[in-house]
Amino acid sequence: MTEEKSKGQILEEKLTKKWDFVWDKVDGKEEQAIYDFSKGYMEFLDVGKTERLAAGEVIRQAEEMGYEPIEFFLESGKTPAPGTKIYANNRGKAVVLFHFGQKPLTDGMQIVGAHLDAPRIDLKSFPLYEDGGLGLLKTHYYGGVRKYQWVAMPLALHGTVVRKDGTIVEVSIGEKADEPVFMISDLLPHLAKDQNQRKLHEGIAGEELNIIIGSVPFKDDKVSEKIKLNLLNILNKKYDIEEADFVSAEFEAVPAGQARDLGLDRSLIAAHGHDDRVCGYTGMKAVFEAESPVHTAVALLVDKEETGSHGNTGMDSKFFEFTVAELLGASMESYNDLALKRALRRSKVLSADVNAGFDPTFPSVMDPKNSSYLGKGVVLTKYTGSRGKGGCNDANAEFVGEVRNIFDANAVIWQTGELGKVDQGGGGTIAYLMAAYDMDVIDCGVPVLSMHAPYEIVSKADVYMTYKGYKAFVEA
Ligand code: MN
Ligand code: MN
Repeated sequence: MTEEKSKGQILEEKLTKKWDFVWDKVDGKEEQAIYDFSKGYMEFLDVGKTERLAAGEVIRQAEEMGYEPIEFFLESGKTPAPGTKIYANNRGKAVVLFHFGQKPLTDGMQIVGAHLDAPRIDLKSFPLYEDGGLGLLKTHYYGGVRKYQWVAMPLALHGTVVRKDGTIVEVSIGEKADEPVFMISDLLPHLAKDQNQRKLHEGIAGEELNIIIGSVPFKDDKVSEKIKLNLLNILNKKYDIEEADFVSAEFEAVPAGQARDLGLDRSLIAAHGHDDRVCGYTGMKAVFEAESPVHTAVALLVDKEETGSHGNTGMDSKFFEFTVAELLGASMESYNDLALKRALRRSKVLSADVNAGFDPTFPSVMDPKNSSYLGKGVVLTKYTGSRGKGGCNDANAEFVGEVRNIFDANAVIWQTGELGKVDQGGGGTIAYLMAAYDMDVIDCGVPVLSMHAPYEIVSKADVYMTYKGYKAFVEA
């Protein structure tokens, strides 16, 4: 016999909002879908350890799905039709996928905008030296890195080197089990008396992030820097490069190894680069799998978000705008500037980036009522910013309402979350750069723990709900 609900209970159910855990709400079939989806995501992380490698994997999968490079498409003289699939590769570091909808481009696009770059340790332009019997590399960290977290752990090196003759060689060392790794040293606790007095953010200084890469000297007493010479000799034999080639190279050090299931129940993922490849992957899959979208579905996967979106591969570049102009040129009898403005300003955007999940170990930095939680689904973040919403894109209530209704209509489990408590800190995304085109934009992505650490944590349930949400959005 079930007890009858009281008036208050009925009213409470009707008027108050409880935020559910995905795991409590999904059936066995969807639970399986969550675990299955995460496998593809983890494989993506393992091959996409840098923005270049991630962009390359997006392009590989796009071609497999029938996407054509924009250069080929334009040259062919074809006109985009509903269902046409095109990708634009921005210098191997950023990619835009277009899945043409039934309506013309001038009616606007449904865009999921994420970034493929992640905080990491870059090599300096002239990095190699020897000291104290070791060969080392000078570095300059990339993005909001907590420097003390990157020491005393195995690192892999990925690089693109342009030799003096203009040829290019890709270097990748340290991901496979039989390859060597590299490491930044830290002090032993026995001798850390002075270092222990430093503030946490100065615990390791930027110029102390030196990567150890060898120790064997070249046997010749006539040479002064024998260890350095031996290392250059190894690099030269394997990759045909010289010291000066470092200047025209981009090397990134990232934690060596693969994404791992986290937890006895395997519900979480520990990996490097969730921010923001988790939104990049889910956005890509959403556009791949969109079923005859009404508007053109776009996955905009940019670079350089972590350093402020500047540069020709970042969102502040005109790459996306110019690419849309090219597609309009191919779509219309005679291209005009007004058509481009209409295509952009009528577009709607999920600024697809991660948010800070509530960490029970550090509750004091959050407002628990307005935090996102691991396992409660994709997060809608109305505004980010810091100190009085400074620098944020505060989404209009009307657009929040629209997205919320799309999610509810498609059984997407979602939550809301602010980036930490008021005046604790803050941050931003590419949202404001999209809004500058007069687009409707809201931040929407996956909650993360240990954001920007060498290994970050997400919930498989949230990854799946984010994919489901993005798919519903691009199909709307
Ligand atoms: Mn991000
Ligand atoms: Mn970030």
